[in-house]
Order: sequence, then structure tokens, then C-alpha cells
Amino acid sequence: MSGGAPPVALTVAGFDPGSGAGITADLKVFAAHGLFGVSAITALTVQSTQGVRRVEPVAGALLRETLDCLAADVEIAGVKIGMLGSTEVTEALAGFLAASGIPRSRVVLDPVLRSSSGKALLEEAGVRLLREKLLPQVGWVTPNLAELAVLTGLPEPAQPAEIPEAARALARMAAETGRAAAGEAGLHVVVTGGHLDRPDDFLLAANGEERWFPGTRVETSATHGTGCAFSSALLSRVLLGDGPVEAVAGAKAYVRAAMKAAYPIGKGRGPMHHLY
Ligand code: PLP
Repeated sequence: MSGGAPPVALTVAGFDPGSGAGITADLKVFAAHGLFGVSAITALTVQSTQGVRRVEPVAGALLRETLDCLAADVEIAGVKIGMLGSTEVTEALAGFLAASGIPRSRVVLDPVLRSSSGKALLEEAGVRLLREKLLPQVGWVTPNLAELAVLTGLPEPAQPAEIPEAARALARMAAETGRAAAGEAGLHVVVTGGHLDRPDDFLLAANGEERWFPGTRVETSATHGTGCAFSSALLSRVLLGDGPVEAVAGAKAYVRAAMKAAYPIGKGRGPMHHLY
């Protein structure tokens, strides 16, 4: 064995057999940042670069047992939460987080509700549970515009000027449902704007600071799993010690570089190339 061990990052997400999204992509992102990644599968999916055909969630008790087994053995530095797949799985994860002692400032929630190919990845009751039981336990949430609308119940922002108010509404909602432990920082909301004309991202930090991160569109079909990669890159940067602004800027730069370096794999929206 050589040197000190890197921080251990946990991804709790779905399995994409094509490795473009979900846990296999997250593990590559963690490795690219020099972290050691571990994972707990929430659901198997039948999918390819051409879209998601089927989602088969694991039993909630199996997920909880997996998480407890990992946490009893390894010091988990932080968690990225991706696709959950069912209400039962969402409940099991909320129970684990409450008991885990992992600081919420090192838990990133990517509220995956629908695949880009249109398949629903969490039912309505699961969304409610995510909002009520998971959101108050995380330090970061990374919705895209459609996810922001579902979580807040507000119309989907049609232009960038509407994004800050929707992000504030989400932060208020989380604060109302949350019971943050004394001394713990609140919620950072990062809205990924990749579906508007300009892929600008917006950060509403826990201290109320607001910041835009301008982007330029990358001409590529390698866009499968960009949300997954962004949230796991964000967790990686947080675990490496970045503050909120540096972490968002770093994650955005990482995803852009991985999209630009992609090679053609599959007939549909291909995977990114994760840079080692
Ligand atoms: N499959 C899994 C396992 C995912 O976690 C996600 C998104 O996070 C998707 C599919 C959807 O990916 P995309 O939005 O690229 O279709």
C-alpha cells in the first residue's frame, strides 16, 4: 500500500448498462478527481444511448442493508444522490442519511425525475418524499429547469431572469420542511440551465450569495449523463476542499471538458469521456 487513502465518495444512483449515466459514470468522475468511489444501486435500468426502456428499483431494505454495510466498514466523506427509482428506495435512503452522521454540507442531491428520452424515473409519491425527507438532509441540490418546476410547483422558467426567484422558492421550501442540526450550513441550490439557449448555471448559496456561471454550448451528441457527471464532479470538488463558487465552476469546467473529449459510442446520445 502507498501513501494516504483518498476521501471516499459514495454514489447512490441507478445502474445504466451503457455507463453513460448513473453509478458507473459517477465512479469514473470520482476516479478522475483522485477520489475512491463506492456505490449503492437504487435501480437497474434497461437502456442504451438510445434511451431508457425499463426501470427496476431494488427493494428498499436491500438498499438500506447495502448502505449500512458500507458505512460500518468505510469512512464515507460525502454522498451524491442520483436517480432513486421508487418511493420505497427514497424512504430507505432518507432513513440512512438521518442515522449516518454524514454532514449535510457534503451531500449532493441530483433530483433525477425523468430521462432526456422522456421516461419517468421517480413516481409522484417519491417526488413528495424527496421534497419532504431528503431535501432537508442535503447541502446541495442540482435541479435542471424541469426539475426545479416539479420541486417548487412553479412554472418552468422560460428565460434566465426567472431562475433566481424559483431557486429562492426552493431554498425557502427546504428551510420550512427542514430541521437543520445546530451549526449546520443550509442549502446551496445550483440550477443547471443546459436546456435554455445558453447553458448558464445559477448558484444560490446557503449564505444568500447569488452567482451566474456563463456557459457556451458544446456542439456534441455526447450529452447522456451530463447531469449525473455534474453532480458527482460537484461533490468531488467539495470533498477536495473547494468553496461553493469554486466547486460549481470546477464541476462545470469538468463536464464541458468531458463532453469535448467524447468519442462516438453507440447510435444515440453518447457518453462523455472522463479524464484520468
Ligand atoms: N439512467 C440513470 C441510471 C440515470 O441516473 C439518469 C440520470 O441521471 C438517466 C438514466 C438519464 O440520463 P439522461 O438524462 O442523459 O437521459
